[in-house]
Amino acid sequence: MKTISVHTQNPYDVLVERGILKRCGEYIRPLTKAGKCAVITDDNVDALYADSVTASLTENGFSVVKFVFPHGESSKNAQTLLDIYQFLCENEITRSDCLIALGGGVVGDITGFAAATFLRGMQYVQIPTTLLAQVDSSVGGKTAIDLPQGKNLVGAFKQPIVVLCDPDALSTLPELFLADGMGEVIKYGMIRDAQLFELLCGLDLTTVQAHFDEIIPTCIAIKRDVVENDPFDHGERMILNFGHTLGHAIEAYFHYETYTHGSAVAAGMCMMTKYNGTPEQYEKLCDCVKAYKLPASVDVPMEALVPLCSGDKKRAGGTLRYVVCEPTGNAQINSVTLQQFYDLFVK
Ligand code: MG
Repeated sequence: MKTISVHTQNPYDVLVERGILKRCGEYIRPLTKAGKCAVITDDNVDALYADSVTASLTENGFSVVKFVFPHGESSKNAQTLLDIYQFLCENEITRSDCLIALGGGVVGDITGFAAATFLRGMQYVQIPTTLLAQVDSSVGGKTAIDLPQGKNLVGAFKQPIVVLCDPDALSTLPELFLADGMGEVIKYGMIRDAQLFELLCGLDLTTVQAHFDEIIPTCIAIKRDVVENDPFDHGERMILNFGHTLGHAIEAYFHYETYTHGSAVAAGMCMMTKYNGTPEQYEKLCDCVKAYKLPASVDVPMEALVPLCSGDKKRAGGTLRYVVCEPTGNAQINSVTLQQFYDLFVK
């Protein structure tokens, strides 16, 4: 088992091991006085893993209730949150009980936010079942729901008591979701770990899976290091946004329908490197993302994308900050005026 300890205000461990999902109760039991666990999940994950999670929790002395909502980003809203609160009230969940987020990023985000707010805050556990959630959204303590006006507009920083990552759970992931997570995995190599990037360059979407036991903890440790230095996202944490300035613009341009987050980030990383890196670095990165069935570019003129970047969260005052990796493994934050940013990409 690999253990990554996260030393935030409320420290916790991320445990990575094949089969840990079926034994989750053993690892949760010593961490809580809860009598009851409320498992929050979506209909896809429910069918695959809820029974084994429930069995392990029951074996370890918890009584278990379960709330299931329809899968997909469109469920990450205030109505689902109210439904969760209502379910917790009906089942007499107290502040000393524990929520279990079983699923991908949507489940983790909304369950984490419910845990941050219900009864002014209670314990929760993350059991991420997608690659993206394991390497990205389960570490860092960011929880949120979407509003009609935009994504992640209401949220809180709330750390789980433990994160249990089971690489075996990824074997049931459709290829599209695996590729989605690989966009973020490649990002970790680019920003902090040239060796990881080299490893990824020699693999593809099929062969990489045998290396998940190494790759997933490596990515989590990189995110941990960055988040520990900047828990409230004021500075260094921004390097995790490599590829995201253009990536978010791509997602928004296509109304979040055409590109998954990871594929938009992949294209964003390549486009950023095209304008800021060496030709060799650009070519290598493009080959790498294509090996994971991710796009190296999108068919949108930069004139249309660049204005969408300036509406992004990463804008501070009249300037825009974006991340470049020069050389590979060494991310840096560039701060430019909106005009300079425009000049860089649209000449
Ligand atoms: Mg991301």
